[in-house]
Amino acid sequence: MQDNPSDWDRQFAWHPFTNMGLWLESQPLSIVRGQGCTLYDQNGNAYLDGNSSIWTNLHGHNHPRLNRAARAQLDRIAHSSFLGFTNPPAAQLCKELCQLWTPAFARCFLSDNGSTAIEASLKIALQYHQLTGNPERNTFASFSGAYHGDTLGASSLGGIPLFFRRFQQHHTPVLNVKSLQELEQHDPSTLAAVVIEPLIQGANRMHFWPKGMLRQLQHWCQSHGVLLIADEVMTGFGRTGKMFACEHENVRPDLVALAKGLTGGYSPLAATLVSEQIFEPFQSTDPSATLFYGHSYTGNQLGCALALENLAIFRDEPILARVNVASVQLKNAITRDLATLTCVTNVRIQGLVAALDLVHPVSKTPFPKELCMGAKVCLTARHHGLLTRPVLDTLVIMPPLCVSAEEINQITIALRNALLETHETQAC
Ligand SMILES: *Cc1c(COP(=O)(O)O)cnc(C)c1O
Repeated sequence: MQDNPSDWDRQFAWHPFTNMGLWLESQPLSIVRGQGCTLYDQNGNAYLDGNSSIWTNLHGHNHPRLNRAARAQLDRIAHSSFLGFTNPPAAQLCKELCQLWTPAFARCFLSDNGSTAIEASLKIALQYHQLTGNPERNTFASFSGAYHGDTLGASSLGGIPLFFRRFQQHHTPVLNVKSLQELEQHDPSTLAAVVIEPLIQGANRMHFWPKGMLRQLQHWCQSHGVLLIADEVMTGFGRTGKMFACEHENVRPDLVALAKGLTGGYSPLAATLVSEQIFEPFQSTDPSATLFYGHSYTGNQLGCALALENLAIFRDEPILARVNVASVQLKNAITRDLATLTCVTNVRIQGLVAALDLVHPVSKTPFPKELCMGAKVCLTARHHGLLTRPVLDTLVIMPPLCVSAEEINQITIALRNALLETHETQAC
């Protein structure tokens, strides 16, 4: 065998959320180029990016404005430390992110990814209660099925046993509840904060919360002195049809975590936004008011320049209006091509997050886990020019926000063909 990048991968790389034994039995697909909603592999094959490169891409790959912004920033400087210094793109980004909300947030704490945005919000919440004389508020509540990232603090909040149970004894104390009703049964006096993915739990097979739940949760938190942390890492930046999912229920949480789409899907960058009330005790010159948290690349200039351009694209172009049009187109295409198949059930869509569950076409019950039907169908869809990653037997359609009507049709037809070609999902 010749030396080539795929061989090096098989020899040296370790992939996230991937069984490496199975990986080594497969031929890795290597993505070498992107244009708009299309990705190209090492052999020149084209695929639609059906999950926005794991929920990150907004305006398409190789986007002229984002490319230009990155190049312009590169010609000045790529990175300098935010520890003891500031820089123009980071400062401007903090201002713009805070002011995207009503009422505006008071401060923006930058970090590197969704997990760190959550870690920072947990530490800020704990220290806030310590500084304001409520050190007994030292635990968190989160929901079953929740996914807030993989670092140890963020994974403590996780409600997906397959991912997190193994690490449980090393986790920080968290009250994990199934619903708001269950949360209301518990004593709130030791809770620092409740963490929630607003509207949709992404990794929990795209589970949609009941309408009004987020607003009720905010009300419960406010009446019990518990902070509300919204994890908008997946839902932020237009994904659900509004800039942020919280806007659907007129909720302004105490803290918000942002990442994935922040740079339009170009580079890792994250932000934790906090309200005036949270920041207030941290303004003191007392040494105890220092937040001892940060990362080497905090305030990375290249990432911040990309994030600023992402926000400028939202201002200059009718992105949200387009998402809502595309959402209807996607819903219609799913109804036409997929919902009528006997192996498809529970179709759900909000903005450009669509999901459907696979069931046995005759018994209408879930397939045995060992069959890995979701993965099987998505592998077959590759042959029809579509890349997407399922969550177990839930198929996810989450294209970049710039997806065209024609591309939407290609996506649903590719999935239809994949379902019809896969023995177990065939209606016969
Ligand atoms: C992806 C995700 C995270 C973790 O973000 P990373 O950048 O992968 O660390 C946290 N919360 C939600 C809701 C996510 O979808």
